Amino acid sequence: MEPNQTTTLAPPPPLDVCGNALFLDLDGTLVDFAAHPEQVLASKELQQLLTSLSGRMNGAIALITGRTIASADQVLDGALVHVAGIHGVERRTGKAIERTSNDTAPIQAALGDTRALIAKCALQVDVEDKGLALALHYRRMPEFADATRRAAADIAQRHGLSILEGKMVIELTLGQRTKADAVTDFMAIPPFANRNPIAMGDDITDEDAFRAVAKLGGHSILVGAPRDTAARYCLPNTRAVFMWLKAGLES
Ligand SMILES: [Mg+2]
Repeated sequence: MEPNQTTTLAPPPPLDVCGNALFLDLDGTLVDFAAHPEQVLASKELQQLLTSLSGRMNGAIALITGRTIASADQVLDGALVHVAGIHGVERRTGKAIERTSNDTAPIQAALGDTRALIAKCALQVDVEDKGLALALHYRRMPEFADATRRAAADIAQRHGLSILEGKMVIELTLGQRTKADAVTDFMAIPPFANRNPIAMGDDITDEDAFRAVAKLGGHSILVGAPRDTAARYCLPNTRAVFMWLKAGLES
C-alpha cells in the first residue's frame, strides 16, 4: 500500500471493545513528551481508563514501547499487564518478562564508546542505558542530530548492533526486533488472537507496527503532526487519544 498523507486522513471509527485488539505506543501517544523520559508520568485518570478498558477488552490491549517494561510501569503505575518493551526485545504477557536476549555486553561496550565521545566533546546527548539497548537523546541539543547519527552508525558497526531512529532519539539495539515483531507475537496468543488489531503511535518506529497490523487485516491511527504514514486514520494529540479511548470504554 502507498503511504498516506495524514492531511487526507480521517478520525478513526469508534473502538469495538469486543472485536478489536489494541496496540498502544506510550510517549507522544498516551502521554506527552518531557525534556527527560523519567519526568513523564501518566495522570491517574489515564491509568484508570487503561485499567478499565483492559477489563472491558478481556485484556486485549498491549503497550508497545521503546521504553523498558520497568520504565513503562513507572509511567503508567503498572496499569497494563501486556507490555512489549525496547521495541519488542522484552515482553510481558503475565507475571514474567521474557527477553529475546540477556547479553548486555555489546550495549555496555557501546555505552563506553559513547561516554568517551561525550568526554571529548565530540558528542552531546542524553544517554539512556536500557540494559538491552542504548538510547541517545538529542531532544535538548537538536543541532547534534547529524553528529549523533554518525556516531551511532560507527558504534553500531563496531559492536554488531542495530539502529532504530525515532523522534529526537537514536537507539542502538540487539538483534533486529521492531514493533512489528511485538504486534505479531501478541496476535498469535490469547486474548489477542482472532481479534481485529488497531495500532496507535506517533513515531517513525510505530510505522513498523502499522504495517504489521495492516498485514493482519487491521488498521492504524497516527497521532500528531502530518507525515507520510502507513496509518489509515489520525488523531491530533494525546488528549484526542484519551477521548477516543474513553468513548470506546463508554460505548
Ligand atoms: Mg511515541
